Amino acid sequence: MKCPYCGFEETRVLDSRVDSSGFTVRRRRECLKCKGRFTTYERYEFGPIFVIKKDGRREKFDREKILKGIMKACEKTPVSLEDMEKAVDTIVNILQKSGNLEVSSTEIGKLVMEQLKGLNEVAYVRFASVYKDFREIDQFLEVVKELKNEK
Ligand SMILES: [Zn+2]
Repeated sequence: MKCPYCGFEETRVLDSRVDSSGFTVRRRRECLKCKGRFTTYERYEFGPIFVIKKDGRREKFDREKILKGIMKACEKTPVSLEDMEKAVDTIVNILQKSGNLEVSSTEIGKLVMEQLKGLNEVAYVRFASVYKDFREIDQFLEVVKELKNEK
């Protein structure tokens, strides 16, 4: 990082400490040329994730939207809102960990299905039917069969 005073590219770190939250590192630096001192911070950065839709449009990742989709699939099932929230958190975590700034809607659909599979079978099949866009009853039955085989 360049010196803010003279633009020189080499600086030395005088002091480096993690703040009380444990999530930020603060560094005191000194420019090797003009001896000017300045502070830099190192923090986590979770930039916005963009979803690439099937038609190629990009849209900002929306946690609420995922939650709504899960809620809809879990309607009239014993799945609690807390479990649904957890499922969304897990999905967001996976996305952030991957470090990718773009993710396809197909990929998100897969992640949601994985979560629903562990929560409730009815919800899983419901979501799968929308996500996989079943046109034939056979396709639907196949998913149900797969589910049974995995038991
Ligand atoms: Zn300088």
